[in-house]
Amino acid sequence: MKRSVCVAGGGASGMMAAIAAARAGADVTILEKNDRPGKKILMTGNGKCNLTNLDMGIFAYYIEDGASPVGRILEQFDEKALIELFKELGMDVTVARDSYVYPKTQTASTVLNVLRRALKEFGVSCKTDTKVTNIKKESSGFSIETDKGAFFADRVIISMGGKSFPKTGSDGDGFLLAKKLGLSMQPDYPALTALICPVEGQRMISGLRADGEVSLLIDGKKVFRDSGQIQFTDYGISGIPVFQVSRFASALLWNRNKGKKARRRIEAAVNLFPDMGEDELFLKIEGQLKRFSGMTYEEAMTGLLHKKWIEFFGKRLGLFSYPDAGSIPQKTVKELASELVKLSFPVEGVKGYDFCQVTGGGVDLSCVDEHLQAKAYPGLFLTGELLDVTGKCGGYNLQWAFSTGYIAGTCAAE
Ligand SMILES: Cc1cc2nc3c(=O)[nH]c(=O)nc-3n(C[C@H](O)[C@H](O)[C@H](O)COP(=O)(O)OP(=O)(O)OC[C@H]3O[C@@H](n4cnc5c(N)ncnc54)[C@H](O)[C@@H]3O)c2cc1C
Repeated sequence: MKRSVCVAGGGASGMMAAIAAARAGADVTILEKNDRPGKKILMTGNGKCNLTNLDMGIFAYYIEDGASPVGRILEQFDEKALIELFKELGMDVTVARDSYVYPKTQTASTVLNVLRRALKEFGVSCKTDTKVTNIKKESSGFSIETDKGAFFADRVIISMGGKSFPKTGSDGDGFLLAKKLGLSMQPDYPALTALICPVEGQRMISGLRADGEVSLLIDGKKVFRDSGQIQFTDYGISGIPVFQVSRFASALLWNRNKGKKARRRIEAAVNLFPDMGEDELFLKIEGQLKRFSGMTYEEAMTGLLHKKWIEFFGKRLGLFSYPDAGSIPQKTVKELASELVKLSFPVEGVKGYDFCQVTGGGVDLSCVDEHLQAKAYPGLFLTGELLDVTGKCGGYNLQWAFSTGYIAGTCAAE
């Protein structure tokens, strides 16, 4: 007789788990609370779905413990295996910026439709508008309670996601269920998100984008840095490099006092000239001010900085009070160069679950074995964002979802 497998949650990892289990010969049912599975996939990669990255490795995940099993889990179904599987399912991929993998169509709905077609091809039954409320271990198999009645299965895979973008269906039910099952949890927090850190004059730079570097400092010590396009907003800073460093601020701020200022001093330092040293930049600005001596500060700086930055630093450092750019004291020019390479944004909070790309924290990895099977409940598996693993931006979170889904699904079918 075929083994019956029930997948609670039809997101990226749940659909992959269902496909893997069905391909391996199981009789599979997905229980999804939305009216269709995979809603979040449509939002990924700015609508293009950055499904994995060729530059894969444990470094791509925020891992503090060298003994973490993340690497051993990922190598069982890595980025090459994922790309190969998508090819088998009828989808080609394309690579951008040397390593970021997207569907060839560069459209997230392609990924979702290919997964949905595979569910159909392998005979997976998908019960939508069905909310899982509880899971109980029975003498043989599991009973899965839902708002549409109970289901029974030999094996169950919990793929209910975290809390980010709750409108997509992942609103923390998975965490509640894991708690009910007595699994050990790490406190959750929004990860890959924007930083709330307005500075005086923020209004002047709101809407600006600049290529630069962001460093996160905790009590003055640099903990992480990333570069790319930074977006300046009315509340603080956003953009991929900000997301990459946000996790460290959020882990400290969120659970302590829900976004209010923490006791530890957290600061984002923005370098608007990462390709130039501070001294070199000082000489460049000084040269420019001398060259246009006799003109205003604003006129002299045109071409070197965006006019909004000219206004921002002009007000901040009192540069408009000099009628002649050539008369600005060296000390003030040094101050300007210094601010341009390490403009400090004291972090007050982070944007929450309605904004962040993934949820940090969740079910402790020590609760599962290398096949994602709960040690306390043989036959029950956990996948994706529900687990306490966060990847950086760049396709690493979907790879984690797909890898864990594939491994759990394959194993559950055995
Ligand atoms: C805006 C945005 C952009 C992103 N872009 C990328 C990207 O380009 N690359 C990348 O790698 N990652 C990206 N991510 C992250 C990635 O989408 C997630 O890490 C991934 O979807 C997690 O998969 P999952 O299966 O664990 O959870 P989810 O995809 O969240 O799926 C969970 C599913 O469970 C269902 N569910 C929840 N509770 C219940 C219940 N009680 N009963 C039944 N069903 C339930 C939900 O409705 C949902 O369908 C992005 C995320 C966001 C929000």
